[in-house]
Amino acid sequence: MIDLRHVSKRFGGHTVIDGVDLSVEEGEFVVFVGPSGCGKSTLLRMIAGLEEISSGDVWIGGERMTDAEPYDRGVAMVFQSYALYPHMTVAENMGFALRIQGLGAAERRRMVEAAARKLHLDHLLDRKPAALSGGQRQRVAIGRAIVRDPKVFLFDEPLSNLDAELRVQMRIEIARLHQTLANTMVYVTHDQTEAMTLADRIVVLRGGRIEQVGRPTDLYDDPDNLFVAGFIGSPR
Ligand code: ADP
Ligand code: MG
Repeated sequence: MIDLRHVSKRFGGHTVIDGVDLSVEEGEFVVFVGPSGCGKSTLLRMIAGLEEISSGDVWIGGERMTDAEPYDRGVAMVFQSYALYPHMTVAENMGFALRIQGLGAAERRRMVEAAARKLHLDHLLDRKPAALSGGQRQRVAIGRAIVRDPKVFLFDEPLSNLDAELRVQMRIEIARLHQTLANTMVYVTHDQTEAMTLADRIVVLRGGRIEQVGRPTDLYDDPDNLFVAGFIGSPR
């Protein structure tokens, strides 16, 4: 579903993503982990089309998307900061991308309500973001992604603003969502438990390169080195 072919990103003279090759299967849940500044967000944003690619190619769903606009890529991104429009209701926030796509009000409402039911947001559709809790806001941000029925969901530390209890609850909800929708998901996190429980495969990044890729249990039981062990596993 996603094919990164020797993707690099340079800011000025500084290389922050350095020749990354990675294939993500359809329906797979892939988690990026690694220290702050290693390039997780940049790599995700390059898949989303929010960051220009310095060299290499991004393929999504069998199409070369290296130069495609974000809206044309069939991806939806969920941010840590929610990025909801404060002056719009939940329904308007969720339907905004559909409006941009030119869908009429009735169809937008139907699609927004269907997505809202999946996330138990039905009763909040007419509220403004300011009247929501942090967990509800993040649910709306996820709902806004679902409503577009993307081939690929991209999550950049979506739960790190939430308190511990809510984080667990939302993690379970995201796992359930992945089971229901069976979409391809790429998920960035600092949280080892999130990585271990959500991922089909974990990608450990370090200094803009892939240090190791593998199933959670494989990385946990058999890390290639102490760096990987420090993030996921326990050295033997
Ligand atoms: P992570 O998400 O893993 O914490 P980022 O992808 O945000 O890392 O950043 C990777 C590196 O790229 C960092 O060194 C960061 O300072 C740098 N970087 C990110 N965005 C920009 C930018 N717009 N201009 C210059 N440097 C940037
Ligand atoms: Mg980041």
